[in-house]
Amino acid sequence: MTPVLVINSGSSSFKYQLLDMDSERTLASGLVERIGDPMGVARHTVYATPTDGPSPAFLDATRTRELPIPDHTAGFGVMLEAFASDGPSLAETPPVAVGHRVVHGGARFFEPTLITPLVEINIDELSVLAPLHNPANLAGIVAARAAFPDVPHVAVFDTAFHQTLSPAAYTYAIDAEVAASHRIRRYGFHGTSHKFVSEAAAAFLGRPLAELRQIVFHLGNGASVTAIDGGRSVDTSMGFTPLEGLVMGTRSGDIDPAVLFQLERRAGMTVDDLDELLNKRSGLLGLAGSNDLRDIRAAIERGEERAILAFEVYVHRLRAYAGAYLAQLGGADVISFTAGVGENAPHVRAGALETLGFAGVEIDPARNESRERGIRIISTDASAVTVLVVPTDEELEIARQTLSVARA
Ligand code: AMP
Repeated sequence: MTPVLVINSGSSSFKYQLLDMDSERTLASGLVERIGDPMGVARHTVYATPTDGPSPAFLDATRTRELPIPDHTAGFGVMLEAFASDGPSLAETPPVAVGHRVVHGGARFFEPTLITPLVEINIDELSVLAPLHNPANLAGIVAARAAFPDVPHVAVFDTAFHQTLSPAAYTYAIDAEVAASHRIRRYGFHGTSHKFVSEAAAAFLGRPLAELRQIVFHLGNGASVTAIDGGRSVDTSMGFTPLEGLVMGTRSGDIDPAVLFQLERRAGMTVDDLDELLNKRSGLLGLAGSNDLRDIRAAIERGEERAILAFEVYVHRLRAYAGAYLAQLGGADVISFTAGVGENAPHVRAGALETLGFAGVEIDPARNESRERGIRIISTDASAVTVLVVPTDEELEIARQTLSVARA
């Protein structure tokens, strides 16, 4: 047994998962939320040892507790109590390493990194670029290092996979001095998922990663698409922040920046209003009143016009990026779909690739509609481009990277 604990810490909550890296299976997972509220919530799930199939194969038991959780350190105490009372026992099999999801690694971190006091300072300093995320990630790191002082802690950055972008791909065409002095450039996000999916696709097809041109659509509540050449990210739709690119659950994605000048000058909106508008009240939510594609689907079936338009805008953008990335890569060998929408919405996948017959992309409707779980092919046998559905597993990828650093 080689247990690795993975922590994904937000400002008022954190998620954790304990994996056994000998089998790559989940042993336990949990969520500690409403940290700092009068009443917090902690949920701990223990998984039975599965006999086969991808983890987690089936639930053993979930326990939810309500109690005040004043800060992240207290939250880690609650997590440790849950492991002690419900298992698996960390006293018997302590984690060999702890992996932390960190959103922003700037241009400094391009690989998983052993956390030292200096690395903590760097993550803190990068809060300038990710004011909502990095301080929250750091709070989790500090609390986890206090709870597990004797094991290596590793930071796995959402931006790291995209550090292979060329200057042509990551540079915005604005005054170069302004950009340099404020570190304005494209960074890209969801890197852990794009890396996991592109590697899983190559392994599934039994083809060398180095030979494949891939496009990965990570379509969840947040959404991004990446062009990957030989395992290296060469273009990605999220930019300086996760706001750029595709239409998302609540984010606008690409928009003419002059719209913001107009809204500031004519509608009297402040920078904070605009931030909130584009990040929290746009995308599917702004267009159709829900950020959940299942609701949009139901509304389309009821004939709601705003839902039909939202879906069309969403798919139109996907198609534009598919075409752009086919051009950047000079064609593709594999196109994969992942995350909540990508794994579960056949009509989105079909819509995104519908017009790409000219590029050798041919979806098999029955395969696309199939509810089969796990990684699978949805293109026809004759399709020059293999199209896949690949369930993402960011925790497993973080655990793998954490172990590789811990063992180095
Ligand atoms: P994620 O961020 O990867 O957890 O994805 C969450 C989103 O996936 C939800 O907001 C839904 O829009 C979408 N989603 C989840 N399940 C389904 C489903 N069965 N059909 C369509 N969309 C789904």
